Amino acid sequence: MEISENVKAVKERIANAAALCGRDPSEIALVAASKMNSAGRVREAVLAGVDACGENRVQELLEKYSQGAYEGAPLHFIGTLQKNKVKYLVGKVSLIHSVDSFSLLQEIEKQAAKRDLVQDVLLEINIAGENSKSGMEASRLPEILEMAAPLGHVRILGLMAIPPICSDPEENRPYFAKMRQLFVDNAGKKYDNSLMKCLSMGMSSDFETAITEGATMVRVGTAIFGRRDYGI
Ligand SMILES: *Cc1c(COP(=O)(O)O)cnc(C)c1O
Repeated sequence: MEISENVKAVKERIANAAALCGRDPSEIALVAASKMNSAGRVREAVLAGVDACGENRVQELLEKYSQGAYEGAPLHFIGTLQKNKVKYLVGKVSLIHSVDSFSLLQEIEKQAAKRDLVQDVLLEINIAGENSKSGMEASRLPEILEMAAPLGHVRILGLMAIPPICSDPEENRPYFAKMRQLFVDNAGKKYDNSLMKCLSMGMSSDFETAITEGATMVRVGTAIFGRRDYGI
């Protein structure tokens, strides 16, 4: 009950943010960031109509997957991904948001080729240049898109970023704006294999700001499921 009401409220906030900047709310996908929530709670979010579920950890994803948590919604991977775990995800998830190096992309290519499929991905950009964050440097993007062009089993649908944690969402507006610029600049170049139609940015604390700066996917956890209990 609570989760479905939260989903409804988040969707309203998405629609309001879209209206504020003259965008069509149907261009913006709501991805439920469901880490640390049980399969049952994830089901509630799916039934309440989120557009996709996003998980951070491979092990947790596989457990909840086997429990049927995601049935009826596309499943995305949004967390840091180690190369040796790629094989568990390819073909199971419809989108990997968090490709942070060319060597990870090559591993996805290899695993997708084995299964004779094309895996959709986003490239994660370390937009604030934080040492503690994963993601590639923005300046490397053209080179990586060029190197990715001959790969036949991955398709780059766009970009993703996780800007710094902030108390005021306006603090992240410059990072969201930079992401949008990067997205637009590289979309114009038309590399093979890259479509540049998804821009994944914005979380519970700042998704409205991200939408007004052009996000097409927001990843929302706390505003849907409540605060995560880390047991500390
Ligand atoms: C947890 C998480 C989110 C959602 O965070 P909230 O602040 O709870 O909305 C979004 N993106 C990623 C990559 C996450 O790990």
